[in-house]
Amino acid sequence: MSDKRWMQEALKEAEKAFRLGEVPVGAIITHSDDPDKLPGELVVRAHNLVETLGDPTAHAEIIAIRLAVDILQTKWLSGCRIYVTLEPCAMCAGAILQVRLSRLIYSVSDPKAGACGTLENLVQDARRNHQVDMTFGVLADRSRELLRSFFRHRRRGARVVDRGGLENRCAFAGTEGSNPSLSATKQ
Ligand SMILES: [Zn+2]
Repeated sequence: MSDKRWMQEALKEAEKAFRLGEVPVGAIITHSDDPDKLPGELVVRAHNLVETLGDPTAHAEIIAIRLAVDILQTKWLSGCRIYVTLEPCAMCAGAILQVRLSRLIYSVSDPKAGACGTLENLVQDARRNHQVDMTFGVLADRSRELLRSFFRHRRRGARVVDRGGLENRCAFAGTEGSNPSLSATKQ
């Protein structure tokens, strides 16, 4: 499946988080024996659960990584890709490096906390012993609209509930691309 198709799955997870009143971020991990080849297979899906669990570390990526390590019974996720709807923070970027994920695909940049190209780029620092191939901007408009919608609701003090119309409010016209200067550090 294409990056767009997988990102749609991650967005479904972000929508689940939205309905729980969580900041809408979703992540999935796919596995392929040859990570350069499509399609791969879905290993896990997860969404942000910070409020639900009362755990500030319960970001979608961390939950997905823990589940994948458990399911695949392996310490390393070197044959795997992670798709996230928001640029990973420093904690999640650290975890992505720690388990040696092969590829990171994220949707929208995070100007306040993004550690994969925005505030810094932890996953492609050539001084480290592992770098991660990276693509960003996949379905970015849709992810951005979901986040905006969430924060609009929150500012109004409204309870975010499932009204079944979420997808209709999301523009499906993401700008897709990768930054060659950022992905060129893979050895
Ligand atoms: Zn994070």
